[in-house]
Amino acid sequence: RAQMQAQSLALSDAMTQAAEYYKLQLRQAPAAIGYLKGRGLTGEIAARFALGYAPGGWDNLRSVFRDYDAPALVEAGLVIDRVDEEGHRNKRYDRFRERVMFPIRNTKGQVIAFGGRIMEQGEPKYLNSPETPLFSKGHELYGLFEARQAIRDAGYVLVTEGYMDVVALAQMGFPQAVATLGTACTTTHVQKLLRQTDNVIFSFDGDKAGRRAARRALEACLPHVSDNKTIKFLFLPAEHDPDSYIREFGAPAFEQQVHEAMPLSQFLLREVAADYDLSEPEGRARVQFDAKPMLQAMSPSALRLQIVRGLASMTQSSPGEIEALCELSKPVAE
Ligand code: ATP
Ligand code: MN
Ligand code: MN
Ligand code: MN
Repeated sequence: RAQMQAQSLALSDAMTQAAEYYKLQLRQAPAAIGYLKGRGLTGEIAARFALGYAPGGWDNLRSVFRDYDAPALVEAGLVIDRVDEEGHRNKRYDRFRERVMFPIRNTKGQVIAFGGRIMEQGEPKYLNSPETPLFSKGHELYGLFEARQAIRDAGYVLVTEGYMDVVALAQMGFPQAVATLGTACTTTHVQKLLRQTDNVIFSFDGDKAGRRAARRALEACLPHVSDNKTIKFLFLPAEHDPDSYIREFGAPAFEQQVHEAMPLSQFLLREVAADYDLSEPEGRARVQFDAKPMLQAMSPSALRLQIVRGLASMTQSSPGEIEALCELSKPVAE
């Protein structure tokens, strides 16, 4: 246990030092500065998010760490050991090269991971740190450390998909944004968010992947639905994400989108009804069938009751009938 503590200490030291290095490198990288400026960001916002730059070259971190061979650097995901055909560890090289660096910080402000964006076309567009003892994707929200006070001031949090959404929204006057980083929004994420505020607004990309992400977020929210929390979903035009939208249409237009965001109850009813013909008994039954696990995931609340009523009227049933259906084949309580 003592060893594990020593080890995770070393990891976080490595991350801090790497972040400092990348930050300094950005100052000397006109192309990277130009890239960020081209995306509408000022130096002030870059500093707020401690953005950096990993220069080209295979072993720049050799100049940062006294011991480039330390196992902690692999564990931190900062370097990679190439393995030869016989399975022997061969040459070690830096994971992040020629990328704009977005440090991910925990709520204490310690750097626990990085996302690195390529500046030109190329794959992968974003390279992220692997899961490490410090960083678990399903738990962390990019920008939460930077957004905490703003979330309190605004009274709500915006949940987006990407690094650039968070940074661009902050640039445009919405510092209360965080991102799930392209992974599904988990119940842990939702719990973390609801510890900061009673009002959560999801604002994913307008494309198919974004709409799928919203559906997954809805499901992650269900166990946390309660009458003193408000969860909403904001849907942007298909070709936009929050970054592109606010840059094209401006802050007041985005504010209007926030204002018009769809409450969870409405989104749920729309989702379950979307694919079926409500004029047929079979269609109405399918809607009820799809809604059942969602209702079962929710604790009793006035809002749940409202959703049951909405579902009842949509499917020509009574709330009692819907509840009776939910009682059938209930999942075993944990
Ligand atoms: P940009 O505006 O810089 O092009 P984006 O944030 O709009 O990026 P999306 O394609 O919408 O990019 O992806 C959303 C998020 O998903 C990214 O911010 C990143 O965290 C993650 N992501 C996207 N592509 C990859 C990838 N190839 N590998 C790992 N993560 C990725
Ligand atoms: Mn997308
Ligand atoms: Mn984008
Ligand atoms: Mn996007």
